[in-house]
Amino acid sequence: DIVVIGSLNMDMVVRSGRAPEAGETVIGDSFVLSAGGKGANQAVAAARLGSTVRLVGKVGADAFGSELLEIIKQEGIDSEYLSVSGSRSTGVASIVLEESGENRIIVVPGANMELTADDIQLLEPVITGAKLLVMQLEMDLHMTEQAVGIAHASGIPVILNPAPAQRLSDELLSHVTYLTPNETEAGILSGVQVDNLDSAREAAAVLLRKGVQNVIMTLGAQGALIVNSQGQIHVPGFPVKAVVDTVAAGDSFNGALAQQLTAGRSLEEAVTFANAVGALAVGKAGAIPSLPTLAEVEQFLER
Ligand code: ADP
Repeated sequence: DIVVIGSLNMDMVVRSGRAPEAGETVIGDSFVLSAGGKGANQAVAAARLGSTVRLVGKVGADAFGSELLEIIKQEGIDSEYLSVSGSRSTGVASIVLEESGENRIIVVPGANMELTADDIQLLEPVITGAKLLVMQLEMDLHMTEQAVGIAHASGIPVILNPAPAQRLSDELLSHVTYLTPNETEAGILSGVQVDNLDSAREAAAVLLRKGVQNVIMTLGAQGALIVNSQGQIHVPGFPVKAVVDTVAAGDSFNGALAQQLTAGRSLEEAVTFANAVGALAVGKAGAIPSLPTLAEVEQFLER
């Protein structure tokens, strides 16, 4: 099965004509609560495509935490290793969307940061029993390094989605089987600004030299670029008539990649399929609500 060690957050989205100044109160237009966090999104993406998924993480002892646990269980994801923090709140993102399109976001990681390298020591059998480990960067970095190191040492393949963007040690990178940055993340990790296919290839080459086995760079509407010791393949994206929102595009791509690789697909087949999943996710609103089922992807690919 696929083991995802990752974040669970509740997104609180307020739409308002404008954001308030300091000391000011404004009347907003709407409020939506939606489940998210890159770990939860990627776990749900893989589960909806038919994978057996186990999500390892932490929520707070509050209403948001219970709701997230409920959602994860409803998706058929194994929640045995999702625990409840005694002291910290569930991770939240407080998001204000202004009419101008400007957004202001405060993320409070809360319980997500409480999963420590010590916890990972205890979770070693969970990692070494996995077919594939999937991680992101919304949790404690030391814990992440520890988990990826354990997987590497036991020959368990690792997808690391380096989001949100952060510099990473060469040691961590050298333990990663599939690194899946978007263009911005690839730029920060490699020091090469990515704005076209040539610079994408250059950035990927830097990351390969740091020891990453396969770089799979997502390129938005352009699809993705696979670079490894065998060479490089640009896998074009699928045209989308109406992009509703790009929330969870990257997460849907990563979940799909995990599902395909554990189902024995070649890397190119897996990336083609993940591009289809990403295209479906940008055509629908929200994070988890936008993630397609296997039947929806198959129907999309037949057209
Ligand atoms: P992120 O959302 O993490 O920045 P990208 O924007 O690169 O990541 O999107 C991830 C994947 O989602 C892409 O590789 C592609 O498969 C799909 N995707 C994103 N935007 C579009 C789009 N406008 N049209 C078609 N596919 C898209």
